[in-house]
Amino acid sequence: MYYVVLDLEWNSSYSLKSKSFINEIIEIGAVMIDSDFEVIETFSTIIKAQLGKRLTNRVKALTNISNEDIRGGVPFSKAFADFERWLGDRDVVIMSWGDSDVRVLSDNFLYFNNDERVPFLKKYLDMQKYFQHYYGLPSSKQIGLISAAALSGIDASEYSSHRALEDSLLELRCIKKIFNEEKIASFIQVCDENFYKKLKFKVHNITNLRDPHIDRSLMQCNCQNCNKPMQRLSEWKCVNQAFRALFYCRECSNMGLFTIKFRQHFDRVDTHSFFVKLEAPDEFPESG
Ligand SMILES: [Zn+2]
Repeated sequence: MYYVVLDLEWNSSYSLKSKSFINEIIEIGAVMIDSDFEVIETFSTIIKAQLGKRLTNRVKALTNISNEDIRGGVPFSKAFADFERWLGDRDVVIMSWGDSDVRVLSDNFLYFNNDERVPFLKKYLDMQKYFQHYYGLPSSKQIGLISAAALSGIDASEYSSHRALEDSLLELRCIKKIFNEEKIASFIQVCDENFYKKLKFKVHNITNLRDPHIDRSLMQCNCQNCNKPMQRLSEWKCVNQAFRALFYCRECSNMGLFTIKFRQHFDRVDTHSFFVKLEAPDEFPESG
């Protein structure tokens, strides 16, 4: 088995065809590793932009890639055909830091090549997910590459950040430190229909109170003072994509607004809730 760390740089370009912005890939960087995690070969290509002839200032500053560079780049189809040839017929796990690279990859293959699937993407591993699991970091907060390097005791300043190949080499170092073939195996995803469904799923906040994914048992508030269940005094109201209601404690007269947000992911719902105590009854005009 081989592992390939893939890192892409992209530029937000406006498409007249789809009348929307798309993240157009402008650079591919990749490192191929054998099953002992030793580097075999690297791959690096700048892609000739078809949509955005000019890079946004942000991308220019971030990557140091110039407009001249992308004008002289390799066209998308040829660049990825070269990449596929570079992979050869090896049994390869493609790895990236977070899944946004594969999401952009999939969008670009659909847009430029009319491919529903990325042909060389057969097995995938999200290194960020593995890294966070290894260090016991919460999945709700995603760790960036620079922070991950710092946590691993790696000096990221040796790498010119936000260039595809340099980033992939740095990602590789972060993962190599915690590489365990058995552990990592359970993070490898087969790129089947379900994988793409999950990839294209848009995470969103639930704003309809009747949504069946809402766990109503969580829409209850216990008093911070006496820990007794509080009584809801108002109807639920959707405010800033969260649900809010007025709660009152009969035991100790504690009163306040309880807010709960349900965030729908592909296979789970995350909740976030908080309580704001109200001191005097005239502070809550919604109570009536
Ligand atoms: Zn109470």
